[in-house]
Amino acid sequence: MLTTKRMSIVPTFVCTLRCRLCSNHMPAFQNPPKASVEEMKADIDALFTLFDHIEWLQFVGGEIFTHKHLDEVFEYCKRYDARFDQLIIETNATTLPTEAEQKSLLSYGKKLKVMISDYGKLSRSRNAFVNLCEENGIEYMLKCYYGDQEDQHFGGWIDNTACRDLLEPDEYVMEQAAKCAQVRLENMHVFRGKLHRCSNSLFLSELGVCVPNCGDYVNLHDGTSFDEKRSIIEKFYTYPRKSCHYCTWKSDSNHSENRYPAAEQL
Ligand code: SF4
Repeated sequence: MLTTKRMSIVPTFVCTLRCRLCSNHMPAFQNPPKASVEEMKADIDALFTLFDHIEWLQFVGGEIFTHKHLDEVFEYCKRYDARFDQLIIETNATTLPTEAEQKSLLSYGKKLKVMISDYGKLSRSRNAFVNLCEENGIEYMLKCYYGDQEDQHFGGWIDNTACRDLLEPDEYVMEQAAKCAQVRLENMHVFRGKLHRCSNSLFLSELGVCVPNCGDYVNLHDGTSFDEKRSIIEKFYTYPRKSCHYCTWKSDSNHSENRYPAAEQL
């Protein structure tokens, strides 16, 4: 039986904001790519061929609602309805879903949860989004990322923008990466057929900054057998990967000195 707690589908690297400390490195992409509806459908089929169960099926960007055709993808996920517990939407609430996207999302009812990164004035559609959730009994969470830093979610952001091998000892990387939140949450990320064990591995690879080692990710659509793919995934969290050597998340233990104000715009 193969399961995961989190599976994040990335529809687009396009974002409406340019945050200096974006942990997903979005401002570093000169031409941010996006996945087509057909590519996402193919990835969803491949994921539910490999995985027996997924707790949270998430959509994470960039800002996902710049995509404009996600209703087709949300509807497609319904064919695997019994195989995932919740549909999670991550948004910065700068733009509302299209009417078709809203209709599809609302049809998920209690199975849907909306996570809003609330950037104050920048999140200009926040109130409309909150009203939409409240009027339709949809669970939502507002993560406060404005105002005094000590009042911000987790005390603000960390700085993971070095984008280079930090040249830390292997033992240190091993010990810290095992405690990383992404590992504890089994937060896998998929984009255009590539399944990584965490967001940092995916985005640094797509940026071309960190070329992953063999077994650091799974190509969902290559000729590798079903058993081989599952075997790679089963070992995802057994040892640190190349991206862990480039990553400051692993050393973050919520110390306030490691935190910075969120969403400062470039
Ligand atoms: S690269 Fe490694 S340490 Fe960083 S978030 Fe991913 S799993 Fe955690």
